[in-house]
Amino acid sequence: MKLAINGGEKLRTKPFPAYNTIGKEEEEAVLRVLRSGKLSTYLGAWHEDFYGGVEVKAFEQEWAAYFGVKHAISVNSATSGLICAVGAAGIEEGDEVIVSPYTMSASAVAPLFYGGIPVFADVEKDTYCLDPKSVEKNITQKTKAIIVVDIFGQPYDVEAINAIAKEHNLIVIEDAAQAPGAMYKERYAGTLGDIGVYSLNYHKHIHAGEGGVIVTNDDVLANKLQLIRNHAESVIANKGFDSPKDLINMVGFNFRMTEMECAVAREQLKKLPDLVLQRQNNVAYINEALKSIPCLRTTLQREHVKHAFYVHPLEFDAVKAGVSRDVFIKAVKAELPRTLMRDDSDVLIGCGYVKPIYLQPIFAHKMAFGSKGYPFNLSTVAYQEGDCPVCESLHFERLFTHELMRPGMSKEDMDDVVKAFIKVWENREELA
Ligand SMILES: *Cc1c(COP(=O)(O)O)cnc(C)c1O
Repeated sequence: MKLAINGGEKLRTKPFPAYNTIGKEEEEAVLRVLRSGKLSTYLGAWHEDFYGGVEVKAFEQEWAAYFGVKHAISVNSATSGLICAVGAAGIEEGDEVIVSPYTMSASAVAPLFYGGIPVFADVEKDTYCLDPKSVEKNITQKTKAIIVVDIFGQPYDVEAINAIAKEHNLIVIEDAAQAPGAMYKERYAGTLGDIGVYSLNYHKHIHAGEGGVIVTNDDVLANKLQLIRNHAESVIANKGFDSPKDLINMVGFNFRMTEMECAVAREQLKKLPDLVLQRQNNVAYINEALKSIPCLRTTLQREHVKHAFYVHPLEFDAVKAGVSRDVFIKAVKAELPRTLMRDDSDVLIGCGYVKPIYLQPIFAHKMAFGSKGYPFNLSTVAYQEGDCPVCESLHFERLFTHELMRPGMSKEDMDDVVKAFIKVWENREELA
C-alpha cells in the first residue's frame, strides 16, 4: 500500500474532534457573574477584598479541598504562579535554582525575575522528570531551590528529590501545570513539594481561558504568595511586616484572576476526575494497540504513580525501524487529518517536546534583562550543548508525543491513529 507521504491515499481525511470541556455549566456560571455586575472585586489595598471576591474565594476553597492542601491561591497564569513561588521562596541575586531543561520555558526562567540563576540538571531517560542523581551533582553552596516538573502528567521522583532538598535545606517548587489529578501514593501532584503550581490555560486538562493556582501547606509561604500576587508593597505595613527581613521580595504584581474566570474554573474542577480517567483509559487503549509495532515503546510509569497524561509520550527505536524518528512520524502524520482546535492546527503528533531550554537564545547568549547580561553576569554558570545528554537524545532522536488521546476522541478515532502507525510500520521500506 502506497504511503500518503509518497502520494498514496491518506488513511483518514475527516478531522478529529476538538477537545472542548466547556458546556452549559460554564455558560451559566459566567452569566451568574455577568448579571451581578461584579467582574472583579479585588482591591490592591488593605481590605477584605484584598483576597478577591466571592468567586475567587470559593474557587480557592474548593481547589484546596479537592487537592487536600491548606492554601490554594489563584493567579492569572501558571507563569505568574511560578514567579510568585520563586519570590516567596526568597530567591535573590546570584542564588542558584536547579531546573529541568525539558519543560515549558516558564518553569525554567522563573528564577531570572529575582536575579536567580537557573542551573539545568538532566532528566531521567524513561520518565523525563528531573533525575535525582543529576540534581545532586549540580548542588553548590549557592543552591537555594529546585523547580521540579511533573512533565507530561507524571509526578517527579518525590522520595529521592524531597530527601535531597531536605538534606541541603532547599525549597521544592513543583510545576504541576501538566499534572492536575496525577497522584503519587495518596497525594496529588502539585502538593508533593513545598509550593505547587497549576495552569488553567486553554491547552491544559481544565481551563478558564487563562489562569493558574498555587498551593502550599505553609502559612508563611501562603501569606507571601498572596502578597506578591496583589501589590505586596502597598499592604505589607498592614500585615505587620516591618523588619527588613520581612520585606524580602515584597514588591508585588497584579496577578489576579477575575470572577468570571474563577466561576468557570469552579465548574471545570468538578469535571477534572472524569477527564483524567478518560485520558488514562484512552492511553491504555492506544498503548495496547501499538504493542504490535516493534519500534515503539510506551513510557515508564513510576511505581505508586497515577499519570494524568497531558500528552501521550512514546519512544521510537530508529534501529528497529530502519528509519529515523522524524521520517517515520512525518509519514504517520501524512496519513492523518488535523484536529478541529484552531484553523491552522496540524496533526497533533510532535517529535520531541521543547528544545532543551539551555540551548535557547537567552541562555546561549546569556542575555535576559537589560544589555549587560543580568542576572547571568552574577554567575559563572555556562550553558552549552552536551549539558544534559539524556534530554538531548530524547528530544532530538527518541521521544515523540501526541494528543490524539484527549477526551472527545472515540474508539474509532483512536483506531485510525493506530492504523496509521501500523500502515507506516508495514510499509517502512518505502521510506528508506
Ligand atoms: C503550560 C505550562 C506552564 C505555563 O502555564 P501558563 O498558565 O500558560 O502560564 C508552565 N509550566 C508547564 C510545565 C506548562 O505545561
